[in-house]
Amino acid sequence: MDNIRALKEKAFAQELRATVMNESIQNQAKLISAYQTAEEREAILSAIVDFSDDAIISKDLNGIVTSWNKSAERIFGYTALEMIGKPILTLIPDDRLEEETLILSRLRSGERVDHFETKRRKKDGRIVDVSLTISPIKNVDGKITGVSKIARDITDKKLEEQRKYDFIAIVSHELKTPLTSVKSYIQLALNKAKERADKFAVNVLTRADLQTSKMTTMIHDYLNVARLEQGKMTLSLTAFSLNDLMEEVISDALILAPDHLLDYSGCPEVELYADRDKICQVMMNLLNNASKYSSTGTTIKINCSLEQGQVIFSVTDQGVGISPTDQVHLFERFYRVSNKNTMEVSGFGIGLYLVAEIIKLHGSSIKLVSEIGEGTTFSFSLPMFVR
Ligand code: ADP
Repeated sequence: MDNIRALKEKAFAQELRATVMNESIQNQAKLISAYQTAEEREAILSAIVDFSDDAIISKDLNGIVTSWNKSAERIFGYTALEMIGKPILTLIPDDRLEEETLILSRLRSGERVDHFETKRRKKDGRIVDVSLTISPIKNVDGKITGVSKIARDITDKKLEEQRKYDFIAIVSHELKTPLTSVKSYIQLALNKAKERADKFAVNVLTRADLQTSKMTTMIHDYLNVARLEQGKMTLSLTAFSLNDLMEEVISDALILAPDHLLDYSGCPEVELYADRDKICQVMMNLLNNASKYSSTGTTIKINCSLEQGQVIFSVTDQGVGISPTDQVHLFERFYRVSNKNTMEVSGFGIGLYLVAEIIKLHGSSIKLVSEIGEGTTFSFSLPMFVR
């Protein structure tokens, strides 16, 4: 009698597997909860794991692999026999070894890691682009006993992105040269118009000059995003005077935000050792945003002070402010806040992404304090240079 029951259950489980694999993820979840016995549920779950397109792997807290599905074999080239009982570090390229420690510490604090894009090493040594979703496995007492990982092969997506960024890099580069000549012709004409005291021409050419400056900034931003995505953004470090840099920033800010009041009371006489052009670009991006997202006639405060050997830069506006929800995503590539205050302002959502990445490359980080309707302060620090 028990044998017949077991056979029936086996047939039922096989039928279930066939049904479940034709269903969407949502329906699979519904099916799992609809079936009553543990065996039924287990049959469905193991079917999902077996036939998933993604690698589904589990490991213990020491990073030793405890399960390995068919797609993990396909993506990484190792069989379950080769991987179970082995360290997961086998898959991690040498330059990314510290990732595992970071991920484990995030999981220990109860976080999930979602769609984390990284690279892993296959059995044949080739590198594969993957997106990882990682969650803790807990026992009945709620204690974390291991980790489950879903790894999606994103090689095609990455190739597509690469093509896109190559295209952006080529177009931006080609636009740069003619734009530089247009700008110098405008400045020549502007100087002549000033000499002749031709008010109309001065007015028109100043506006034309401002627009070409905006276009130049945009093109530099695109080029830098493309470089960043290709891992080709490097810093060109030099020692320079903070005051000279800020003078340049302020004179550009006066052109960029002619209808705002600029509040700037000078900087300490110190030197920095950083990528001067990129720090200038960071400041211009922050000032450009301050003027874009606040009303004309309001004040933009630019500050740089010295605290314990660190130069603290900040840009404060009296603008629309940023909600706590948006603040979380603000430094992501292409992220734009979509509300009635920001919708009509043009932009691509790359300025702050670049700002954050450039500051990160300098070993520091960008901070923000903001209140809806009150305004925003962006700040960062760089060490003072001592010769
Ligand atoms: P863009 O301005 O081109 O959209 P950014 O990356 O510079 O891109 O900024 C991302 C988003 O952050 C903007 O769309 C805007 O909604 C918000 N933002 C940036 N700076 C400010 C600011 N000073 N005040 C209010 N919102 C801002």
